[in-house]
Amino acid sequence: MKKQNRIDYGSLKSKIGSVEITTGAVLESNGSTSKTKTGAWRSLRPVVDEKKCIGCGMCWTYCPEGCITKKDAKKFEVNFDYCKGCGICANECPVKAIAMVVEEK
Ligand code: SF4
Ligand code: SF4
Repeated sequence: MKKQNRIDYGSLKSKIGSVEITTGAVLESNGSTSKTKTGAWRSLRPVVDEKKCIGCGMCWTYCPEGCITKKDAKKFEVNFDYCKGCGICANECPVKAIAMVVEEK
């Protein structure tokens, strides 16, 4: 079996204040971003009008965060722990069932 080149992540680490990061913020393992709730800094929130939604799934297809899930055969739900409020889902929805509203904290 051919030997694979492995990255020594330990040698890439440096400290910024008390936070230790890898050079270029390289991720050391897959799935590690699930611990970072990117929804914390969202300024806009997608709101789905379920009366208008036709269940096409375009929002689910285009969401770059993968934070939209199928609730039932025709409805889709946003996980706000990870939604960053980019508005791509609202832009792609063919029946304009998603409105982006200002987030209230
Ligand atoms: S606003 Fe962006 S991140 Fe949030 S659900 Fe829509 S596409 Fe996904
Ligand atoms: S893109 Fe619009 S119509 Fe299609 S599932 Fe999403 S909210 Fe519903």
